[in-house]
Amino acid sequence: MTTPADPAQKPARPTAPPSDSPSRVDNAVPGERYEFFKVIQGYLDRAASVIQMPEYVRAILSQPKNELIVNFPVRMDDGSVRLFKGYRIQHSNILGPYKGGMRFHESASLDDFKALAAMMTWKCSLMNLPYGGGKGGIKFNPRDVSRNELQRITRRFFHSLGSNIGPDYDIPAPDMGTNAQTMAWAMDTYMNTVGMVNKQAATGVVTGKPIASGGTYGREKATGQGVVHCITEWAERERVDLEGKRLMVQGFGNVGSHTAVLLSKLGVSLVAVGDHSGYLYNAEGFNAHRLQEYVQAKGSIAGYPNGKPISREEFFAADADIFVPAALENQIGEEEATALKARLVAEGANGPCNPAGEEVLAKRGIHVLPDVLANAGGVTVSYYEWVQNKRSEQWTLEEVDERLETAMKGAYERVEHFARKHRCDTRLACYGVALERLVKVYAEREIFP
Ligand code: GLU
Repeated sequence: MTTPADPAQKPARPTAPPSDSPSRVDNAVPGERYEFFKVIQGYLDRAASVIQMPEYVRAILSQPKNELIVNFPVRMDDGSVRLFKGYRIQHSNILGPYKGGMRFHESASLDDFKALAAMMTWKCSLMNLPYGGGKGGIKFNPRDVSRNELQRITRRFFHSLGSNIGPDYDIPAPDMGTNAQTMAWAMDTYMNTVGMVNKQAATGVVTGKPIASGGTYGREKATGQGVVHCITEWAERERVDLEGKRLMVQGFGNVGSHTAVLLSKLGVSLVAVGDHSGYLYNAEGFNAHRLQEYVQAKGSIAGYPNGKPISREEFFAADADIFVPAALENQIGEEEATALKARLVAEGANGPCNPAGEEVLAKRGIHVLPDVLANAGGVTVSYYEWVQNKRSEQWTLEEVDERLETAMKGAYERVEHFARKHRCDTRLACYGVALERLVKVYAEREIFP
């Protein structure tokens, strides 16, 4: 298991001691690793048997189409040169260009990117987007470098990728450790590297850009907004009144903080929160908006005045109704799932439950809104951004919000319908819906030559 970068967000069942200082070493820390890709392949295999998927389609989708690894040097502020390892995994482009985020994280590995890229294929298919799946990033801790270094690292990485990405070929976006600024540097580098005469046509090479540089209104909060649409849809169907419910959030970056802020407007109070610096509790409820501003200014929740520091164990046992994991994969194992008091787990993160944890949640009757549905709002609004770039348009926030709500509710209904029809759990249903679309396209197009 890879020792995670963040001491507070250690994997569910650690076998190596957690590192408590950010490491500048690019090699994986020794120890038994969590086989994330194998877990995702396991879901694929189970769903394949539910829909009786042709074996050749299962075999094709069980591996990424392309696996790119680039090593590139960057001059650091002190004059030294450091070698970085970057990845881009292109899982499938049968439904459209490869699509998915770029993650900058010191524990990232090839195995993680393969898992995350495959999940993007399912996510885009489930949401009916004209995209395949991809994922990539760089193995390093972005908190460890200066802004100038971060810019040079980003630019050298995208320069190394060259025409392996492109507005109609592979379209990166933000993920953990990257944001709109990263995408502005990426787009600018692509324009200068590929040397397209028509710069406007190259704007869509990445999504999640700042608004002035071709981004869309509503992209920044989109993933959190999508999580909230799923939660409200669940609450309606389960006849749960959200007003007065208590929320716990793990990871207070883009996804976690926007989810908490949007839920607070529906009367849900954030009582427990954690990030790479530790965990905090406030029985009265945090002001999510203020905490978000604090984190934007200080970089973490550490030192926020209105919270009582608690341990990771206390966090997972906190008195709450809804849990939104919005950090790394493999956070909810057997122990965490046993301790949890919440009735609902809405996966803002990709792969936060490991299979053992998920089994316990199912036995305890705790509902899970799976990642490929719950956090699909991000890539859905990325698609709206890409369409606006293609048409040289700028939609209003209301227009984006309205489309996202319709898209999320439509996907939720497709998943529920599949689950009822096949009497299976929600994750399997998500995979089932996504795979049915892929199978149809393979049946129509068949295999070249
Ligand atoms: N990184 C996000 C995800 O995991 C968004 C990807 C995108 O917008 O392309 O879904």
